[in-house]
Amino acid sequence: MFSKSFGRRRFLQTGALFSAGLTASIARTRLVRAADEPVQAVVIGSGFGGAVAALRLGKAGIKTLVIERGRRWSIVDPTNNSTFATYRNPDGRSAWLNPTTVVYDPVPIDIYTGVLERLDENGISVLCGAGVGGGSLVFNGMMYQPPKDLFYRVFPNSIDYDELDQIYFPRVRSIVKLALLPQDILATNYYLSTRTFLKQATVAGLPNRLIDMALDWDVIRQEINGTRVPSAIIAEDWTGLNSGAKNSLDKNYLPQAEKTGNVEILPLHVVTEISEVPGYGYRVTCNQINESGEIVTSKSITCRYLFLAAGSMGTSKLLVKAKVTGTLSKLNNYVGKTWGDNGDNLGSRSGLPKPTNPGQGGTGSGLIEHFNNPLGPISLESYATWNAPDGTLTSLGMVIPEATGTFNYDQATDSVKLNWPANSSKVKKILKTAAYTYNILDRKNTTSTYNPQTQTILGMQQPTFEASTATSPHPLGGAVLGQACDLYGRVIGYQGLYVVDGSLIPGSTACANPAFTIAALAERCMDRIIADIS
Ligand SMILES: Cc1cc2nc3c(=O)[nH]c(=O)nc-3n(C[C@H](O)[C@H](O)[C@H](O)COP(=O)(O)OP(=O)(O)OC[C@H]3O[C@@H](n4cnc5c(N)ncnc54)[C@H](O)[C@@H]3O)c2cc1C
Repeated sequence: MFSKSFGRRRFLQTGALFSAGLTASIARTRLVRAADEPVQAVVIGSGFGGAVAALRLGKAGIKTLVIERGRRWSIVDPTNNSTFATYRNPDGRSAWLNPTTVVYDPVPIDIYTGVLERLDENGISVLCGAGVGGGSLVFNGMMYQPPKDLFYRVFPNSIDYDELDQIYFPRVRSIVKLALLPQDILATNYYLSTRTFLKQATVAGLPNRLIDMALDWDVIRQEINGTRVPSAIIAEDWTGLNSGAKNSLDKNYLPQAEKTGNVEILPLHVVTEISEVPGYGYRVTCNQINESGEIVTSKSITCRYLFLAAGSMGTSKLLVKAKVTGTLSKLNNYVGKTWGDNGDNLGSRSGLPKPTNPGQGGTGSGLIEHFNNPLGPISLESYATWNAPDGTLTSLGMVIPEATGTFNYDQATDSVKLNWPANSSKVKKILKTAAYTYNILDRKNTTSTYNPQTQTILGMQQPTFEASTATSPHPLGGAVLGQACDLYGRVIGYQGLYVVDGSLIPGSTACANPAFTIAALAERCMDRIIADIS
């Protein structure tokens, strides 16, 4: 069993696992000087969708302001833990404006604009990134392109997978710089957990391989040889890697966007409302905050083109509020619907032959693709968990979920809440599907203890598993392609209003982690949108 400090139950429950309108003012380098001064384009959020939009707008010569609620996180000194908080020594930097840490057992911390937010919605908790780079600051870096047949179980046929495969996935791949875990690193003791995961899959007859990662493996070699602070290799992942091993968006898309001279990023600005400015464009109301989350000043910024990229949770909530309160009254009834958790299930197997080194060898890399599971296709990914006891292995499972969630506005609190049918048979099916695969893994990896002198088997040991759907790090949907938006993210009912983030995706990226698909789809949307507006 897990040690007391590991808090296994808590781990599973919280998911601790784990061109019109071009005015002279627009042409200035600093885009926002006074309240209500217009800019040509505003992008809300600087995660995968926002970073792609910013780069493509900047390259097209469109003056763009990226409004981001969180702060910038540049690596201060890669030889020590000076940039991000760690699991082992948490502080306010661990969490977005919360008095305790938000994953693993809660630890009191100072209230700060930290990198990781947990939203406790009705029926599910959701994890999101906050800061310049969005989810790329906290993610494991797994960049998994869904296979074509599974892609079409989720997405409309009118989205051309081959075009994504040949143009947009490669474009993202070349900018973010993806690479497989190199064999020399896999061979180290640090990555024993990955080797064990893959080996057990092979023994169980389950297809397995390594997955593309947005990691700089040379930096991880430096972690191993002691010239950079151990970060990925000791599974310090979800609150940022102090060694700088993550290829987060603040190292690729976003600086490239700023380099065009047309894009400015405004950190520590929280958008509270979006509205139409008839005959012109849109108004974005936001609060500038300090690093403790206190409001410094309120602003309203007017733009011709508005790109929503606040993530599935952020964008859906802004849109639902705008629809209900009438600031964007022409939004259709699909807004706030078709939300899904990507079929996420966080699992842990115990009773494996020791050592497994489960707390080392981050941030993930091993992949099992059990697509012929009779209950539905599932992928399982290995990832390290900093405080897991020896003899365990943790993994993230993803199925194609059948349940859908809906966002609803509550007038009394002027807030929007997600409702997810946690107790429905459709959600329970996620765990049944995962259990089917885990059972094969456990059964086929049963070990025996043998006494060679007496030539007798002393005992059989079969691993066991636990899994949970209580928390998802992969919120998707709320402004879905072909429903609230057209197939290029253009919001139906409006001109110049676009969604370019995970909200576009109908609840699942087909047994894959979503960031790669979100970025590729955003590239595809931006090609069409730039052609429309330039
Ligand atoms: C712990 C964790 C691990 C993950 N690991 C992986 C992985 O390995 N592989 C993978 O593919 N995916 C992973 N994900 C998921 C991935 O991070 C998201 O799918 C992806 O970042 C979503 O991209 P996005 O553009 O939709 O939104 P985000 O990347 O979430 O960006 C939204 C941005 O908008 C900002 N924002 C939100 N609201 C407002 C507002 N009101 N005003 C101003 N700014 C706002 C946020 O701060 C954020 O920067 C992980 C997620 C988490 C939380």
